[in-house]
Amino acid sequence: MVARYSYLSHLRCSACQRRYEADRLQTTSPCCSRPLLAQYDLSAVERDVARDEIARREASMWRYHELLPVREKAHVQTLGEGMTPLVAASRLAPPGLEKDARLLVKDEGQNPTGSFKARGMAAAVSRALELGAGGLVTPTAGNAGAAMAAYAARAGLAAIVVTPEDAPQTCIQQARIYGADVVLIDGLISDAGHTAASLARERGWFNMATLREPYRAEGKKTMGFELAEQLGWRLPDAIIYPCGGGTGIVGIWKAFAELRELGWIEHKRLPRMIIVQAEGCAPLVRAFEQGNEVAEVWPSKRASTRAAGLRVPSAIGDRLILQAVRESGGTAICVSDEAMIHMVRFAAYREGMLIAVEAAATLAAYHRLLATHFLAPTDETVLFFTGSGLPDIGKYSL
Ligand SMILES: *Cc1c(COP(=O)(O)O)cnc(C)c1O
Ligand SMILES: [Zn+2]
Repeated sequence: MVARYSYLSHLRCSACQRRYEADRLQTTSPCCSRPLLAQYDLSAVERDVARDEIARREASMWRYHELLPVREKAHVQTLGEGMTPLVAASRLAPPGLEKDARLLVKDEGQNPTGSFKARGMAAAVSRALELGAGGLVTPTAGNAGAAMAAYAARAGLAAIVVTPEDAPQTCIQQARIYGADVVLIDGLISDAGHTAASLARERGWFNMATLREPYRAEGKKTMGFELAEQLGWRLPDAIIYPCGGGTGIVGIWKAFAELRELGWIEHKRLPRMIIVQAEGCAPLVRAFEQGNEVAEVWPSKRASTRAAGLRVPSAIGDRLILQAVRESGGTAICVSDEAMIHMVRFAAYREGMLIAVEAAATLAAYHRLLATHFLAPTDETVLFFTGSGLPDIGKYSL
């Protein structure tokens, strides 16, 4: 029995469970036009891999390679993404509660390219290369384009990034310096999505839009594996995640399901999954509050927030995101841009952490949920600090 590098078996339509072949480039499911999710031969992984062997492996997300989609190690395009620190940060709790607060943050700003988008793109670019993509295109609100451009450079693939013209300049410049062609459009991420899809069609290149290909979610899934491993193979009481397209929350929820099936974590209650969005663009929060299974498109004219990663008026993974929130007993809330910016400063001077506005949204949500008693300070809570604040440092008029 030769151990395989990846135990990927097939893809599954997230709406109707129909099976699709994994070893060719796939987009959304032909049956339902919904995200395809990667499936693994988990009983073989259980047989071939000892959980505690993982601890001796390299300090990157590729330590979980059996549960990632790349078949051959030689195809892995890595810049060392993943295995970011999980840091205790009780001084980020509201003043007066620091002593009791069991607050941890996962510092994703330490990834290559400055955000957790590196994880998703490392997996998806590696797999696209393995399956013979001739070039890559992505729509982006900011960080995804920069991350794709970096991994495309590493893989020697040509890249086009399509982004709203008012996206953060730092992200646009970052994508350009990695050698991508950047197409600026007058519109939102959803408009960028249409342009990216037609550019991909014209050139015969592969479109890497969020959850419109199966593997970015697989890269982001490793945040869930790492969280469990870093806590000694157990999970916290609650997770707060800044939700845009939702690849991260879908990935993390999938990671927990896989870990349970492998028997690598206990079958006790999973964490409450809490998503936070911006007041100026909160389609999933509205759907959650109204009890809907899908989210209506947030009117473009009103989609406004300084948190570029959260300015996503419609998410193709809406069902999956809302399912994770509801099944876990979590919630969905929105916070103002002012609250986020306040929390950028607060995290910096209280704990020496310089975080992106999207990340700061999780901290604002944490404070609010303590105030409303949805969370207690003694609930072990993990905030996903999804990006570094360094690129935006010039914007805070200090
Ligand atoms: C993209 C992004 C998000 C949103 O992530 P999704 O997984 O797409 O919901 C949050 N924070 C930052 C910094 C981002 O770049
Ligand atoms: Zn289907």
